Amino acid sequence: MLCKIIPKKCIACGLCQIKAPNIFDYHDNGIVKLSDSDETEFQIGTDVPEDLLNAYKACPTRAIVIEK
Ligand code: SF4
Repeated sequence: MLCKIIPKKCIACGLCQIKAPNIFDYHDNGIVKLSDSDETEFQIGTDVPEDLLNAYKACPTRAIVIEK
């Protein structure tokens, strides 16, 4: 499975880093980035990690996408 972030949809609310601090970080302007890379997507296994799932559910603008 694949997780994507869509920075242009992000409203810098900060929820995703609260839910998944090891995955999400922010640019200086508060817009989401991945904590360990400047890419906008990363592969995940067949089981979505709970912290990622919680961040996905919390994002109010669907700036975090999980795809098969
Ligand atoms: S939860 Fe969504 S809108 Fe809020 S900072 Fe994270 S990606 Fe941006």
